[in-house]
Amino acid sequence: MNERMKELAERLITKHSLAEEEYQYLIENRSADAAAFLAEHAVRVRREIYGNAVFVRGLIEICNICKNDCLYCGIRRSNRSCDRYRLTEEQILACADEGYLLGFRTVVLQGGEDAYFSDEVMCGMIRQLKSAHPDCAVTLSLGERSLASYAALREAGADRYLLRHETADREHYERLHPPEMSFDNRMRCLNDLRALGYQVGCGFMVGSPFQTSQELAEDLKFIENFKPDMCGIGPFVPHHDTPFRDEPPGTLELTCFLLSIIRLIYPPVLLPATTALGTIAPDGRERGILAGANVVMPNLSPISVRNKYELYDNKICTGDESAQSRSCLEQRMSAIGYEIVTDIGDIRKGKRYE
Ligand code: SAM
Repeated sequence: MNERMKELAERLITKHSLAEEEYQYLIENRSADAAAFLAEHAVRVRREIYGNAVFVRGLIEICNICKNDCLYCGIRRSNRSCDRYRLTEEQILACADEGYLLGFRTVVLQGGEDAYFSDEVMCGMIRQLKSAHPDCAVTLSLGERSLASYAALREAGADRYLLRHETADREHYERLHPPEMSFDNRMRCLNDLRALGYQVGCGFMVGSPFQTSQELAEDLKFIENFKPDMCGIGPFVPHHDTPFRDEPPGTLELTCFLLSIIRLIYPPVLLPATTALGTIAPDGRERGILAGANVVMPNLSPISVRNKYELYDNKICTGDESAQSRSCLEQRMSAIGYEIVTDIGDIRKGKRYE
């Protein structure tokens, strides 16, 4: 590491803040040495707050029907080859019950933007989930909705909402999305969610088409200012039926480097080692944890729809039973010295924040 890299890394570790150009410098001048140094400190600060716990969230992919046409996504509306499905309320509640029996205390309902899942349908389901399992957190990841809709879902009992900002750079956002989607609306959603008292997750893909180190630096500065409760970052992985089919995937190396930086920017953040990371490398999720991540999200969706929620090619774990997903991750985490914790795993319960 050169002197400047060392100085920036040390300042990040102590002050949790750098200027945007400094983040860019860190990214452009990264080396194996710098990555190891930042990972060591990322793991240390995470351990001070959460010990060796890795939190699990049970993910239920409720539908792959989507009105949006994001250029990177395999379930975009113009993909005519996508075999569409929508789980029934009974199926969703049954998956959640199964997750509960396996010990999961957070359920994440994720899906495309499907008009069927109106406020009325969602609120009914959230209420049923909460009354069946009052000790569970309900996390939603259903894309962009109105303030009134987010308010109704919150009122029904939803605790957390995941909505990746995708990129903090307006022009880059416009290159990844069709004209009818807007950067301003994405940001409006994140601010509304926060104002309504949700625990909010933002995030972005590493190596998405046209992404530069300057845009990544903007993402880091955005995260520094927004201080999300959760932050989902994973590599972009191309899908064969999208306009980005021939674009190269993001790398494990850069994703892990950024995971360490994000941990150091905001030490208590809940940071998943994503399925996309496990897809580009067999030990991707373990490497993510060793870089500073502390959440894994095994799949609780019915096996019959697993391979239909195909956001990108070669997605892993599409054939596992829920129990298998859980025990597989448990073994993987214990092999690297971490303990899977199924409890609610709340950012507000990190040691320093009790
Ligand atoms: N519709 C909701 C939304 O927009 O937030 C939730 C579902 S959306 C498919 C979940 C996330 O998948 C997106 O935020 C995006 O970052 C990620 N994703 C989509 N296509 C991807 C790809 N090709 N590679 C990696 N991640 C992808």
